[in-house]
Amino acid sequence: MAQNLTLRSIEPVTHDTHHLTFDRPEGFTFEPGQAIEMKLQKDGWRDEGRPFTPISLPDAASLEFIIKSYPSHDGVTEQIARMQAGDGVTIEGPFGDMRDRGPGVFIAGGAGITPILALLHKRLKDHGDLSGSTLVFSNKTEADIIRRDELSAMPGLTVAYVVTKGEGKTVPKRRLDRDYLRQFVEPGSLCYLCGPPPMMSAVQSELAALGVDRDDLVADDWS
Ligand SMILES: Cc1cc2nc3c(=O)[nH]c(=O)nc-3n(C[C@H](O)[C@H](O)[C@H](O)COP(=O)(O)OP(=O)(O)OC[C@H]3O[C@@H](n4cnc5c(N)ncnc54)[C@H](O)[C@@H]3O)c2cc1C
Repeated sequence: MAQNLTLRSIEPVTHDTHHLTFDRPEGFTFEPGQAIEMKLQKDGWRDEGRPFTPISLPDAASLEFIIKSYPSHDGVTEQIARMQAGDGVTIEGPFGDMRDRGPGVFIAGGAGITPILALLHKRLKDHGDLSGSTLVFSNKTEADIIRRDELSAMPGLTVAYVVTKGEGKTVPKRRLDRDYLRQFVEPGSLCYLCGPPPMMSAVQSELAALGVDRDDLVADDWS
């Protein structure tokens, strides 16, 4: 069933991402990690649905998103960056199979952190601590790292950041290849993965080479 939401606030997170907060409609629920389809209530855009993943918990009063804008696409996310409090959207869903299956190795690329952030929030709420879990978070540059302070401070979570472009001042520049991932992953490891399609397929091959079974991979494909 479609639900209408009103934007309460929009704040920058990085140079190209925004944190959007809506009131959660009564009765609307989802599993952390699942996505919804969002349409803007704006002339010319009402039929353009795009998927986004709530980062807030299902029982929170607000429904929150972090959304990366791509001005070069001349699409919905460019319009989202221009939204103001009071603007409306319509959402449908939820959908998707990204679900909490226990502590594991969470691997994210760029805005692909959003379902993982939702899962980490859930695990923190349920267990108070993320011991036994590792986050491997790849970005183009350090300026692209979403919620770095929050992630670094999550109790019990081991966090490893890498960048793929430019030199990171505090973060190594390197790819998520098997030589890097083997320090976190072994056969039998439960892995969660979300990122842009090229990164997803590259990391999936490397995880398979490290002996991670497809059944032990919880992946959200954004292709
Ligand atoms: C399940 C799921 C959950 C998601 N959750 C989130 C989330 O929580 N946060 C988030 O930030 N993102 C999320 N995404 C990604 C998000 O949905 C896309 O970034 C968004 O749909 C892009 O919409 P757009 O209209 O701006 O651009 P698009 O729909 O990608 O493109 C619009 C047009 O731009 C052109 N175009 C496309 N690619 C390029 C390119 N590379 N260069 C130039 N032009 C191009 C094409 O003509 C295209 O028709 C999620 C995706 C999925 C599948």
